[in-house]
Amino acid sequence: MYNVTMIAGDGIGPEISAAVAEIIAAAGVDINWDRVEAGAGVMDKYGTPLPEEVFKSIRKNKVALKGPITTPVGSGFRSVNVAIRKELNLYANVRPLQVHAKKFAKDENIDMVVFRENTEGLYVGIEHYVGDQAAESIKIITRKASRKITERAFEYAVREGRKKVTAVHKANILKYSDGLFLEEARKVAEKYKKTNPEIEFNDKIVDNMCMQMVQYPEQYDVLVMPNLYGDIVSDLGAGLIGGLGLAPGMNLGDEIAVFEAVHGSAPDIAGQNKANPVALLFSSVLMLRHLGETKAAERIEKAASAVLNKGEVLTGDLGGSAATDEITKAIINEL
Ligand code: NAD
Repeated sequence: MYNVTMIAGDGIGPEISAAVAEIIAAAGVDINWDRVEAGAGVMDKYGTPLPEEVFKSIRKNKVALKGPITTPVGSGFRSVNVAIRKELNLYANVRPLQVHAKKFAKDENIDMVVFRENTEGLYVGIEHYVGDQAAESIKIITRKASRKITERAFEYAVREGRKKVTAVHKANILKYSDGLFLEEARKVAEKYKKTNPEIEFNDKIVDNMCMQMVQYPEQYDVLVMPNLYGDIVSDLGAGLIGGLGLAPGMNLGDEIAVFEAVHGSAPDIAGQNKANPVALLFSSVLMLRHLGETKAAERIEKAASAVLNKGEVLTGDLGGSAATDEITKAIINEL
């Protein structure tokens, strides 16, 4: 029996997290879900979109599965998602880009993992107006955070037998901030060159990286980058493997891990039983591996891939017309 915090989220969050919990139970993994709420829906009850209960639960259980949470654009509260990552120092946002169903992928050779720095960059939320005609946002890059995310990417590359780490940046223009990120990434790479010379290291400017990912994805393996680039590049990557409905992710600190899909709360299809639960399901597969439930993780992954490859029960994002609960049942039948 595992104790895991569950934040269902809002928008499509409650539908897809219910689907995922059902599939995990069907796979025979006994999880005691510690359910806590966050987002606009709890403002009235708690006076904040991010009650202290959420942090208490995650700090206690060390592992959480999280649905998406809507962030109001422009005015309103700051992102609950960013606040959770910052408060718990979940400095590594890891987004694997793997092909589970060839027919939805732009290139079947895609096998990359994006390591996105998750606590600083342009997401520190330091912004202000300069008079009423301009606004300024501050981007923070520290040596420590740059080093930690690159270390994490190399550790992963060593553990998983990966061949190459690419640092992604815009240091040609942002000479101080991205320059510092690249300097630290290179130092970490130098260190690993001595212990693991089999892992190649290079760097790419982010705009070129986007083009390269689309044209020559087979040349890329582990990618490490500051916050904003990671956000954008991983959505680009999601598009390459079949869309946001298939792209999983995790937020890692030194002790705590929060698993969530790349996609957001999809307000356009929320509450309509139309959302694809597979991205959150693949995030839960990462969680099961983290918990040591390797066999169950593999079974779920295979069952979901089989349903996707058969192509009979697919949600709208993949060109089908199946409902969330129909694809959930199909995956459980496959299990
Ligand atoms: P989104 O990812 O919610 O949706 C983009 C498009 O993809 C929409 O057309 C949506 O219907 C579709 N889509 C996304 N997930 C899907 C799924 N599982 N199945 C089927 N279709 C799916 O992006 P957005 O519209 O830019 O953002 C909506 C809200 O989500 C915003 O408030 C944003 O801030 C928030 N958001 C939250 C997170 C998070 O919780 N980690 C991440 C990204 C965005």
